[in-house]
Amino acid sequence: MPPGNWQTFLEHVRTEFDRLPVIEQRWLEDRVQKIARFQVAIDQLFQAVQGGKICKVCGGACCDSGRHHLSLANLLGLLFANASPPTPDFSRGCPFVGDDGCLLAIPHRPYNCITFFCDSLDNRMTAEQRTLLANHDRALRAEYTAIAQRYEAAGLGRLWLTLNRLGWRSIFRRRPDHVVDFKNH
Ligand code: SF4
Ligand code: SF4
Repeated sequence: MPPGNWQTFLEHVRTEFDRLPVIEQRWLEDRVQKIARFQVAIDQLFQAVQGGKICKVCGGACCDSGRHHLSLANLLGLLFANASPPTPDFSRGCPFVGDDGCLLAIPHRPYNCITFFCDSLDNRMTAEQRTLLANHDRALRAEYTAIAQRYEAAGLGRLWLTLNRLGWRSIFRRRPDHVVDFKNH
């Protein structure tokens, strides 16, 4: 969990982002915008199978295991959108679940949350929708992976755990073996 105050941690992330070279800031923004677009496309499939209604009846059972789903990309998405990231509540199964469901907007929701279609949802999908979901999932995962290959704290989730291990001030620490070549991304 972030040490001290959540707002202080967010300020630290903003300050560290501002210190990055502009070309790297733009690279990250591009990745995060693409993530947002693919996630909205996946959510359209979720809505097409009445996901909202089904999950409401279920009561969000899968969110009980969402504690470690947030990633660096999701946090950056919230900051780029100038949205006010909801304050995590670590007394709940997922720190971002509210009384009426998820507090995170679709573009900034964790990868696991967006791509998980349980059997109740999957059973309602057509073969064409499944193919579309697989294609969007592949493209989405590639964007998360590109960020994860560059920064030690990034991945498909586990931001809190990783920062606990690395130290909370190492948010944009590069992987030592990663050679930066912006032209090839
Ligand atoms: S995805 Fe499935 S398990 Fe998760 S909240 Fe929706 S219906 Fe429930
Ligand atoms: S981030 Fe949202 S969708 Fe994901 S587990 Fe938490 S409440 Fe559920």
